[in-house]
Amino acid sequence: MKLSTKLIHAGIEPDPSTGAIMTPIYQTSTYVQSAPGVHKGYEYARSQNPTRAALESALAHIENGRHGLCYSSGVAATDAVLRLLVPGDEVIAANDMYGGTYRLFTKIFEKAGIRFHFVDMQDASAILPHINANTKLIWAETPTNPLINIVDIAALAAIANQRKILLCVDNTFASPYLQNPLDLGADLVLHSATKYLGGHSDVIHGCLVMNSDELREKLYFIQKACGAVPGPQDCFLVLRGLKTLHVRMDRHCLNGEKIAHWLRKHPKVGKVYWCGFEDHPGYAVAKKQMRGFGGMMSFTLKDDSLAAATKVLSSTKVFALAESLGGVESLINHPASMTHASIPREERLRNGLGDSLIRLSVGIEDVEDLIEDLQQAIG
Ligand SMILES: *Cc1c(COP(=O)(O)O)cnc(C)c1O
Repeated sequence: MKLSTKLIHAGIEPDPSTGAIMTPIYQTSTYVQSAPGVHKGYEYARSQNPTRAALESALAHIENGRHGLCYSSGVAATDAVLRLLVPGDEVIAANDMYGGTYRLFTKIFEKAGIRFHFVDMQDASAILPHINANTKLIWAETPTNPLINIVDIAALAAIANQRKILLCVDNTFASPYLQNPLDLGADLVLHSATKYLGGHSDVIHGCLVMNSDELREKLYFIQKACGAVPGPQDCFLVLRGLKTLHVRMDRHCLNGEKIAHWLRKHPKVGKVYWCGFEDHPGYAVAKKQMRGFGGMMSFTLKDDSLAAATKVLSSTKVFALAESLGGVESLINHPASMTHASIPREERLRNGLGDSLIRLSVGIEDVEDLIEDLQQAIG
């Protein structure tokens, strides 16, 4: 089955009791047993829920994996993966990634005795000096947030698989429509389904997809034991979002390409970060591992001051100034004070994330309106 068909049909059966074509929202906490221990596979809704089960199955199909697991947020999914580790274990993580992931690693799991190495992974071999007998997990994000760097997933997987280190790829920015990390050798894929999968800025949700039965058992146990499960209504919203992912992503890519090229020609714009430029350092890898370049980009102004950036950020009318990304509506964001404020300033600057950087999540509106809006804001 091709991806567009899978997005609409995979893992989803009409409801067996009524024939409802849409998966019902099973808003229940428990299930009746006909005798002790005799039930239909559902005992208690932290462990099993039919709406969640349909979504987990759909996500597994869409990411070309065997198992899906859903969580109450993307961060909760990240938390579940880190709970596979024990004190003394080490993690190699990207130096440019979602601020909340960095915060979870340094503020929660460092205290629990896990050691993190933050490495620029644009050259996969840069991780080699940090690998030792305690290295248990490699955490990658590509394209990265917010600098849109590209990491070669197959090259990382070759290093990780040989040493039996788990490789988890946060695929939130690309979405399964543009990139499938399991096909490239990753062990685990993570999504903040809050973003492109949900697609309508109306739900907080996260998921993991994997092939290994053993990994699935361990993570299912953690999901049940720690309890960060999503409600059935949220699962329904993500299921509904999936059905239009392909048409939305095509438009995100088209609008993204037009806006990236327009920004680059603008006399007041400094550097534009978008992985579809042929002179982007990760362009060849992006071409190889992605089916499109997406609608996420960042840029600086020639007047590289916070004041100039603040003026643009406060002047757009169609682009809404807000955190998050991947919805149908266009958003503009200031990483240094919003999404990445949890990263210390020195650390940010060292990684190239300056105070004046502006990030765009290009939506699916008419691109002429979006360009007009940016034009009046940039001046
Ligand atoms: C938003 C985001 C997360 C966290 O997901 P939540 O659903 O907000 O908990 C993780 N990774 C990336 C790349 C994100 O953009």
